Amino acid sequence: MGLVVQKYGGSSIADAASVRRVAARIVETHRAGNGVVVVVSAMGDTTDELLDLAEQVSPSPPVRELDMLLTAGERISMALLAMAISDLGAEARSYTGSQAGLITDSAHGAARIIDVTPGRIREALDSGAIPIVAGFQGVAQDTKDITTLGRGGSDTTAVALAAALGADVCEIYTDVDGVFSADPRVVPRARQLHVVTYEEMLELAAAGAKVLHLRCVEYARRFDLPIHVRSSFSNREGTFVLSDEALAARIDQGDIMEQPIISGTVADLNDAKITVVGVPDRPGEAAAIFTALADAGINIDMIVQNVSAASTGRTDVTFTCPQGSLVKATESLDAVRGVIGFEDLLTDAEIAKISLVGAGMRSNPGVSATFFKALADAGVNVEMISTSEIRISVVTRADVATDAVRALHTAFGLDADGEAVIYAGTGR
Ligand code: ADP
Ligand code: ASP
Ligand code: MG
Repeated sequence: MGLVVQKYGGSSIADAASVRRVAARIVETHRAGNGVVVVVSAMGDTTDELLDLAEQVSPSPPVRELDMLLTAGERISMALLAMAISDLGAEARSYTGSQAGLITDSAHGAARIIDVTPGRIREALDSGAIPIVAGFQGVAQDTKDITTLGRGGSDTTAVALAAALGADVCEIYTDVDGVFSADPRVVPRARQLHVVTYEEMLELAAAGAKVLHLRCVEYARRFDLPIHVRSSFSNREGTFVLSDEALAARIDQGDIMEQPIISGTVADLNDAKITVVGVPDRPGEAAAIFTALADAGINIDMIVQNVSAASTGRTDVTFTCPQGSLVKATESLDAVRGVIGFEDLLTDAEIAKISLVGAGMRSNPGVSATFFKALADAGVNVEMISTSEIRISVVTRADVATDAVRALHTAFGLDADGEAVIYAGTGR
């Protein structure tokens, strides 16, 4: 008998019928002799709808209240699911994140888990019940206020609970069969990956593949906890996210053949680009720019500095950040304009970040050549470039993102024979 944490995303519990369907699945796992802990997201697009509602009430609501509002979505799902399970003759008890011991810092909207004390979940398990935990939320250690972990954060609740409880596996149930070589909504002939390493999944998630929350992958890697991403609409085996060592063991056993060179391509349309024009070319200027942004809590992704024109002694610094941080970023730079002495700020939200990820890039020459040739052949202009050992990312115009991803997918031989199944969801 094992212990499994199962997380059901919003599209898997979008209405009463799906709540009942998922309840049956949970009870089946429980009756097979497993301890089961369930983590739920809000039903369907509830979180987006609550955000829309908040915006109608106030253009910039207090972050404490916004978190209180959003966590209501998961509370609805947890109670309904517990009712449906009880209807099937098993005992289920629902818990908010706070009751389940998800202790966070007080960064509303992007809180970090600092401790997990799942005493009540253990008790429920020991008494043979099925605990149902509201995902995406916790309670701040210092202020005792209710917090949220950031969009998509229920994945992280599930992995954190699985690690704290010593579960054998964390199953993430969603509306596609697993992790694919591209978003199947963008590339219909995306190929399902059977295994992917933590390292590659981190790069895919950081590049914008929203199938798993970035922090849940960081957490799983830290605790060496296997994640199984699969569909709640089928019984097919999904994708295992695991360590290099576990992957090597499966290759040795003949379970899988070989790790592919490229695991996938991703388009991220959520970034914006800021150019600081006419920055004096002297030591300390970049430090001043990025300190101002860091003090404002802005995450920077790519950075490019042009060669300065000898005649002016000035240069341009361009970087990308999340679109949601654009206003704050420009305000914080404007505030130090006098000290830095730059000439202008240009912003651009019509960009896409296109990435190619694969552990095999390390040892296979020619990946960059194929990458840039494919983009050139598709008529895609590259504005910025950044790389890691196992990733190449470029910034392009937003309107060519789909063409770019499809061109790369084909150029690297990733197209599958048939089309991937999308079982539900709006992709919102
Ligand atoms: P859930 O509601 O279950 O949390 P999400 O919408 O957060 O679901 O994540 C699942 C979606 O992620 C899929 O429907 C798919 O459109 C998208 N996605 C993006 N990139 C990938 C990828 N590489 N593999 C699989 N799905 C992906
Ligand atoms: N309901 C939250 C969201 O939509 C959390 C999650 O689904 O993981 O972002
Ligand atoms: Mg999700």
